[in-house]
Amino acid sequence: MKLSPPKKNFPTKKEPEPPFPYLRFLVQIGIALFLVWLWQESLHKATVSTIPYSEFLNKLNQKEIVECKITPDEIYGKMLIVKPEEKGKPPRIGLFSTVRVDDPDLVKRLQAAGVVYGSVKPSLLSQILFSWVVPILIFFLVWFALARFVGGGGAGYSLLNIGKSRARLLVDESTGVTFADVAGCDEAKYELQEVVDFLKNPSRYKALGAKIPKGVLLVGPPGTGKTLLAKAVAGEAKVPFFSISGSEFVEMFVGVGAARVRDLFGQAKAKAPCIIFIDELDAIGRQRGIRIQVGSDEHEQTLNQLLVEMDGFDPNEGIIVLAATNRPEILDRALLRPGRFDRQVVVDLPDANGREAILKVHAKGKPLSSDINFKEIAQATMGFSGADLANLLNEAALLAARRKSTCIEQKDLFEAMEKVIAGPERKSRVLSEKERERVAYHEVGHALVAFYLEHAEPVRKISIVPRGRAALGYTLQLPASQQYLLSKSELLDRICVAMGGRAAEELIYKDVTTGAENDLEVATTIARQMVCLYGMGEKSGLSHYVPPQPLFGGLDSSYLKECSNETARIIELEIEKILEENYEKAKSILQQHLKELQEVTTILLAKETLSGEEFKSILDKVKNQEGVSYSSSVSSS
Ligand code: ADP
Ligand code: ZN
Ligand code: MG
Repeated sequence: MKLSPPKKNFPTKKEPEPPFPYLRFLVQIGIALFLVWLWQESLHKATVSTIPYSEFLNKLNQKEIVECKITPDEIYGKMLIVKPEEKGKPPRIGLFSTVRVDDPDLVKRLQAAGVVYGSVKPSLLSQILFSWVVPILIFFLVWFALARFVGGGGAGYSLLNIGKSRARLLVDESTGVTFADVAGCDEAKYELQEVVDFLKNPSRYKALGAKIPKGVLLVGPPGTGKTLLAKAVAGEAKVPFFSISGSEFVEMFVGVGAARVRDLFGQAKAKAPCIIFIDELDAIGRQRGIRIQVGSDEHEQTLNQLLVEMDGFDPNEGIIVLAATNRPEILDRALLRPGRFDRQVVVDLPDANGREAILKVHAKGKPLSSDINFKEIAQATMGFSGADLANLLNEAALLAARRKSTCIEQKDLFEAMEKVIAGPERKSRVLSEKERERVAYHEVGHALVAFYLEHAEPVRKISIVPRGRAALGYTLQLPASQQYLLSKSELLDRICVAMGGRAAEELIYKDVTTGAENDLEVATTIARQMVCLYGMGEKSGLSHYVPPQPLFGGLDSSYLKECSNETARIIELEIEKILEENYEKAKSILQQHLKELQEVTTILLAKETLSGEEFKSILDKVKNQEGVSYSSSVSSS
């Protein structure tokens, strides 16, 4: 059963930027240049007197010029300084310079005055200095100033470390978090235990030649404790924890993100064994090449660099990359292939037991009154994530403080719960009692149909805990082994299982809801593919009806483009028939096993999740009670 909850955006933390961080820098440069200019000017002024050309000629006539050098636009040299009040004393010699005027008689005049004169070529060094070094220097200064501006400033962000990762700031030598601080996700903890073991005793794994996964991807809705789990792994293994958020890699300049990735891995290697944690991996891990947008070059380079780095270290070096995302479906496929994030750990919303455990973890250190009953709260907070529950307890403590009480009471918890639920986003996720029951029947409908069909995959889990990613409940089926080919009967059974949810709703309530939309989409897609792609239709024959591929994305639903109207009609009817038949089949299966449908639903409502084994044992119990043999139709798996 699916529903589309509003998508949440998660703002990433950023240090507040000072207003115009680049301005101060520019002003500094300006002042420095001004000072240099001032110094040079005054030096010049103090020693060299600049005189007009006419005065130069006067002095020449009075033989006061001692010697001079002629450059293309200046004449400078030594002259006698004659001051009226210093008459009698020997004249001092001073420096002069004058701007050269186009004077064809200059040489004659100099000759006549008997001055030592000559010309100079500007020295190579000063030529290079003024025509190359200075402009380049100025260019670089401006570029750095701009880089500071667009690079998105922030504390500790100076000229010299544009490409350095800010991960360094977040190195935690010991996180201090342990698995005991994370409650209610035992499967995830179990999987991560292996990573901890490896970091603690790498030699044991090396001796056996075992390769530990390089990358582990934590997948799950927001607030379920992914970041916390990653920290706990580092804490348990007592290794440093490098953490960076995916969004921090994304920069304006092409290549900066890639440099950060390189730097991050470089720093981590120096500290191995350690953990690198990339939060919100989807910010860099988005599929490449689809969007054409500003910054997509940079994006691809960063991702490519990450892929290269992940290939580049030996798994036994002692670095393990953990990453978290709540949108695994948009990740680039290359990230998920073996040797990179090949292991995925699902961190789902907690069920009733998990919620109780989380409440207890967060209640530690808070004074509680004796009437506290966490079980009750846990049962009432379906759909809450770990973060919500932590928040709930904090709210309760605030409420208790407002009452001027010394301990938290049950009523505080309830009031806090209402406060959290009444928040705008929660309303849609916590279901009413009536809806819960409907969802439960729907899911058990899927599960029962799957159980009684010969070719359907075995049921692994039934849940009515709404998930962050759109589902209100779900039935998880997993194939017993890896399968590459699907037979027609298997495909038909898949359609039938997809119909099971709606069939159960109709059977029980004589009415249907919008909840089956996704199921119908799945069923229709399979049916259409059977008819159009696999030649499994009865009347449509063996033709392969695929339209030209659309530019972006995969196959769309318009397989019918490339055929005549009559064929299109036949295909439509064929699809309709498959769906219709399977819906009836699902209904009749459930009709036959109505008692089991009700029994399993009752238990599911109480427990919220059922494993495959629990599901089977309930069915066995019901059968034994009734004393009826179903052996002929029971699936062998
Ligand atoms: P995510 O990274 O999955 O969005 P976080 O790990 O940041 O979630 O969790 C946010 C906070 O919620 C944690 O700091 C912790 O206080 C609380 N929390 C979430 N899940 C759990 C859990 N399973 N056990 C204990 N606390 C949890
Ligand atoms: Zn469904
Ligand atoms: Mg997180």
